[in-house]
Amino acid sequence: MYKANENRYEKMKYLRCGKSGLLLPRVSLGLWHNFGSGDCFDTMKEMLFEAFDNGITHFDLANNYGPVPGSAEENFGRIMQSDLRPYRDEMIISTKAGYDMWPGPYGNFGSRKYLMASLDQSLKRMNLDYVDIFYHHRPDPNTPLEETMGALSDIVKQGKALYVGLSNYNAQQLQSAAQILKNNKTPLLIVQPRYNMFNRNAETSGLFDAAHEVGAGIITYSPLAQGLLTNRYLNGIPNDSRAAKDHFLKKEDITEETISQIKQLQEIAFARNQSLAEMALCWNLRNDKVTSVLIGSSKKEQITDNVKIVNHLDFTKDELDAIEQILK
Ligand code: NDP
Repeated sequence: MYKANENRYEKMKYLRCGKSGLLLPRVSLGLWHNFGSGDCFDTMKEMLFEAFDNGITHFDLANNYGPVPGSAEENFGRIMQSDLRPYRDEMIISTKAGYDMWPGPYGNFGSRKYLMASLDQSLKRMNLDYVDIFYHHRPDPNTPLEETMGALSDIVKQGKALYVGLSNYNAQQLQSAAQILKNNKTPLLIVQPRYNMFNRNAETSGLFDAAHEVGAGIITYSPLAQGLLTNRYLNGIPNDSRAAKDHFLKKEDITEETISQIKQLQEIAFARNQSLAEMALCWNLRNDKVTSVLIGSSKKEQITDNVKIVNHLDFTKDELDAIEQILK
């Protein structure tokens, strides 16, 4: 049975999530890819243990992660049962509902019916009594916001989640939702947008500012642009990479221009004694509104590499300017 590293809290740094009392690790681990039914179970265990041994206390899931949908939660639940149970109180586990999960009119978006049923399913799959954070995964244009936020608040009051989060909401939707949650006395803990050097919409659209104004923390997903902002694709598309599957990260996204940018960014990273992956994560955290970066991984060595960043977060103005030039 797994025994956690006794020194696991010595290196990681933690930041309070928005105006809440909850401390999150600067690096968190997501289980979107590589934890599904077709993936290697031993590798999943290695990645979770490597993360926890390095002070990553936050693990992010969703009802539909797999494939098949639900299988990432099931695999996590098996490992929770066999190895991680003694550490449950040291872990922040999140899940979400919002995308397609089961057939018919009640298996997606934001009705009270869907959110309540989905969380019950997630808890069973993960072998948990409660999650720490329950997210609405995407806004629903056809359900009153009061209904969706009311369901989130009631889930907290039922003790099935400790905090609530929102993902993929824009700034305006976020402000309205946060006000309803505040009125319901279940303040919004956190928002989860995509954000990386190649996609800065969350910053430029005012979402970061809106989150800050309502007192929510920010956890940024796909901070490595699904692996583009690493050394992964410098010599073609490896067979074991995400782009090889050509589904969420498309082969056509790996253009000559992108590779040229990646190579130039890597030069700056090397001058900082970092890998490009490390520098790309630090770049996310240079914005002091960002509480944590939510990484994915396919092998434990990537996690070992990525947690190193906490000791080298600062940038010089020259470095930031040079990065801007490349991204233009
Ligand atoms: P990243 O941008 O961190 O991409 C992860 C991929 O980058 C890995 O699978 C791996 O690719 C590669 N990688 C990671 N570290 C290294 C390294 N050190 N060196 C080389 N390659 C590396 O994040 P994801 O896109 O995976 O998203 C992270 C999490 O964010 C998800 O698991 C999920 O929890 C959340 N998320 C939330 C969404 C939402 O709508 N709320 C949407 C998407 C993600 P490879 O597999 O090819 O080895």
